[in-house]
Amino acid sequence: APPPGRARRVVLKLSGEVFGGGAIGVDPDVVQAIARQIATVVRRGVQVSVVVGGGNFFRGAELQKRGMDRARADYMGMLGTVMNCLALQDFLEKEGIETRVQTAITMAQVAEPYIPLRAIRHLEKGRVVIFGAGAGMPYFSTDTVAAQRALEIRADVVLMSKNGVDAVYTADPRVDPTARKLDSITFSEALRRNLRVADAAAFSLCMENGLPMLVFGAQGDDTIVRAVGGEKIGTLITA
Ligand code: UDP
Repeated sequence: APPPGRARRVVLKLSGEVFGGGAIGVDPDVVQAIARQIATVVRRGVQVSVVVGGGNFFRGAELQKRGMDRARADYMGMLGTVMNCLALQDFLEKEGIETRVQTAITMAQVAEPYIPLRAIRHLEKGRVVIFGAGAGMPYFSTDTVAAQRALEIRADVVLMSKNGVDAVYTADPRVDPTARKLDSITFSEALRRNLRVADAAAFSLCMENGLPMLVFGAQGDDTIVRAVGGEKIGTLITA
């Protein structure tokens, strides 16, 4: 195993909100900036796979509140993630980084199906693998998928890039002025205190399988580079 802080293979979770730059759809400038950071760490020899969210298009739970069938709305959410994948793929290739998109819902014209051993092979060749369409199953989130993919492709760490927060706090810093930033915490403590910076299913998967998770802010032009480089940013969550 590599020494802690110097990950060899990572899963980077990018929420959909990051892609939209706060709006619906994709902001090409934002995606380009993310692609540049990923290219930097790939050139340093880190194997990078990305799990992409879709909240900038649709969230199943929100559409359900407005009268849609939950499962169908969730499929819309999953399809939204694929558009983000293609945008990221485009900007990564412009950076000269070979990239494959693998989706959990098959769509042969735009992506490979999710094949874990093939994903590992791509990573070993220095390609970035972007995982789209979540788990292909309604009622799941892309946070949970990030943990699952990391376990299956044997990544060293899950890196959760978050919009609006830069770490895990003792309470929501936007509502509680006494909230304190945590450098590290255990999964069981995060679950017990109901700190919802990632969903509970993702925490449980990581906890049960000893997979560390780093939660850090998407804001800034080098946060991904710093997180992958093992710098002390955000909050490290361990079993
Ligand atoms: N989704 C799903 N199953 C999955 C992953 C995602 O049904 O395995 C749907 C769900 O409706 C979710 C939407 O896709 O709200 C977008 O994903 P997510 O909310 O995780 O994106 P993020 O919040 O990271 O942008």
